[in-house]
Amino acid sequence: MVAATQIQQLPKPVLGISSCLLGEKVRYDGGDKYNSYIDLTLGSDFELHGICPETAIGMGVPRKPIHLSGDPAASPRVVAVHDPQLDYTRSIIEYGNSAAAKLDQICGYIVKSRSPSCGYRTSPVYRKGQRPVKGSGLFIHTLRHHLPWLPIIDEEQLGDPNRRDNFLTRVFTCARWQALRPELDYKALSSFHQHHKLLLMAHYPVDAKRLGALIANGSSQPLSSLATDYLHGLMRTLAHKATPRRNVNALQHAQGYLKRQLSTHDKREFTEILERYATGQTNLAEPMALLRHHLAQHPHPWLLEQVYLYPGAAEARLRCL
Ligand code: SF4
Repeated sequence: MVAATQIQQLPKPVLGISSCLLGEKVRYDGGDKYNSYIDLTLGSDFELHGICPETAIGMGVPRKPIHLSGDPAASPRVVAVHDPQLDYTRSIIEYGNSAAAKLDQICGYIVKSRSPSCGYRTSPVYRKGQRPVKGSGLFIHTLRHHLPWLPIIDEEQLGDPNRRDNFLTRVFTCARWQALRPELDYKALSSFHQHHKLLLMAHYPVDAKRLGALIANGSSQPLSSLATDYLHGLMRTLAHKATPRRNVNALQHAQGYLKRQLSTHDKREFTEILERYATGQTNLAEPMALLRHHLAQHPHPWLLEQVYLYPGAAEARLRCL
């Protein structure tokens, strides 16, 4: 098992990226949608794997614009805007199937919003005589069919600090999971869950308990199916927002392990900082830092292994913890 204190030594996690966001001139009009945060900030901590499904299936640059057409609930087709006979549906699905098989080390995906190929829940789907509704681009829809646990965000959502934080949390958790895979056994899986307990509690305590029960009864299940169920449950749980109330609960739970070691003054100070955090007067980093300060003086083995309190260096920097 990768201990929380060793996470910094993990290889760079791999992120799939819509190529145009990396500045590649692959859009239908010959342009790009360069995003400097992805390229310069995330690029130093992640391996960025650019993919343009449209050029990958042989569509040229520039090319005729395409869009999604049909019933969003029943697999819409990808066709040329001005010539619906030009249908790229099959090629994009086949490319998505083959890409998914090659992306087994991937930890997350940043897509171009509203694209008929790459968009995630933001792409307009056109229906005759009706207003367009939102759906996912066909490539991303296909990828999700194979990798339903994959954290996905678009470049616009990435600008929202809460959504970005949630995405990065899932991506780094996924990276720890990928690092665990070569040595996966029941014991390693149980340790992994132990190390993520506080994090899960801060996101969605109800599902965190369900995951605990899954692990507790896991030895009756083949390891591969247990691991798949666990990964899906893990990513579903972390997709819930870690609200201030849930973070406060998790931090209070953590502080409970030190109740004998901390003085009355220490406890009062921690409670005051939690109140300041809960009311938006400070950010999560402050109570976290105080708890780590106490842990440096009163080491507790279970808490020292919690990735919630001790994320790796890159995660702490990008999430401002
Ligand atoms: Fe290519 Fe996707 Fe960008 Fe369109 S959105 S240009 S398909 S990478």
